[in-house]
Amino acid sequence: MDTRGRRQSSNIEDRRGMRPVRTGIGLSIGGLLFLGLLTLLGINPLPFLGVATKAPEVEMQQSPEPYQESPQEAQLREMTAVVLADTEVTWSTILPKYGVTYVEPRLVLFNGIVQSECGTAQAAMGPFYCPIDQKVYLDMSFYIDLSQRFGAPGDFAQAYVIAHEIGHHVQYLLGITEKVQAARERSRQVDANALSVRMELQADCFAGLWARNAAQSRQLLEAGDVEEGLRAASAIGDDRLQRQTQGRVVPDAFTHGSSEQRVRWFRRGLEAGTLEACDTFNTPQI
Ligand SMILES: [Zn+2]
Repeated sequence: MDTRGRRQSSNIEDRRGMRPVRTGIGLSIGGLLFLGLLTLLGINPLPFLGVATKAPEVEMQQSPEPYQESPQEAQLREMTAVVLADTEVTWSTILPKYGVTYVEPRLVLFNGIVQSECGTAQAAMGPFYCPIDQKVYLDMSFYIDLSQRFGAPGDFAQAYVIAHEIGHHVQYLLGITEKVQAARERSRQVDANALSVRMELQADCFAGLWARNAAQSRQLLEAGDVEEGLRAASAIGDDRLQRQTQGRVVPDAFTHGSSEQRVRWFRRGLEAGTLEACDTFNTPQI
């Protein structure tokens, strides 16, 4: 990506200097143990790039010294702010055509553990969007995971992650999140998972829509960027993650879609460029 000299979003909320406090015996320590146990068991409480729901609470406090970032972290933060700014331009252009005003979400940077309105989350769960406070939560160590653990390096792979989370915010603004949540509550587990997959694939398609707009209107993309994004979409498919964590693939347990599906829907948004093309809910075969 060519991010030099571009506008950085003012909607970054830097909480990297916040630390959990262990007050009393209540939920703070229990919550941490609970989440740690799930992670140890290989159960992903909030799957990668998920929409957060409920998690135990923990109290956070600003540490006395301001957070000192490394030059590499500063570079990643700036890239994140440029991509966030670009998604603001894209969605403020597209959504009014559908009678919806784009309300810019905040993006919270954190280290290790964070408190959202959806509950407490750990970095190991991956980036997520909380519809209750309309914020995206990101520990930038995920960028390193993406490159080293999932084999998807590059700034555009990172941008894809941000654009996917912003895709969840767009779903929220369009009223899709609420409808899907209500439908999931009425469904059996298998059907609820299938709805989650459609939700995730739509966020991938919206990420593709953003990439198209950024490339065509502002020449943000460089040669090889689309391939980086596709590699990232493929790397974090449920089948690939399951094979890594359990050694086998269980399609009914998919909540994010297979690698092939994620790539296909990202590409669809990129090529079609319309919201209608991203209607994963009225497509018999996803
Ligand atoms: Zn997601």
